[in-house]
Amino acid sequence: MKFCPGCGNRISSNSVVCPYCGVQVGYMQTYERKTNGTAIAAIILSFFIPLIGLILGGIGLKKSHELNDGRGLSIAAIVISLIQLVAVVLIIALAVVGASLA
Ligand SMILES: [Zn+2]
Repeated sequence: MKFCPGCGNRISSNSVVCPYCGVQVGYMQTYERKTNGTAIAAIILSFFIPLIGLILGGIGLKKSHELNDGRGLSIAAIVISLIQLVAVVLIIALAVVGASLA
């Protein structure tokens, strides 16, 4: 609890505006944590559609600078996407080699 400097009423300590007189008593959280949705989408898609995961990971990494969130997640998405892509390429290569040998 705190007191309003405008009217002196007791108000909730996390109020931004006094409910009695409307005076501003606090500050909006300007450093509100925004979630980097792109990074989250990237990490999920990197498992299923690595190419899109890789692209979203790149976008998420770019966004992580302005949002200050999701940097690690974006990097993880890029790494997982690359591993998945390499695995897919290897599987295709092995299948082609296997088919040509057979
Ligand atoms: Zn007040």
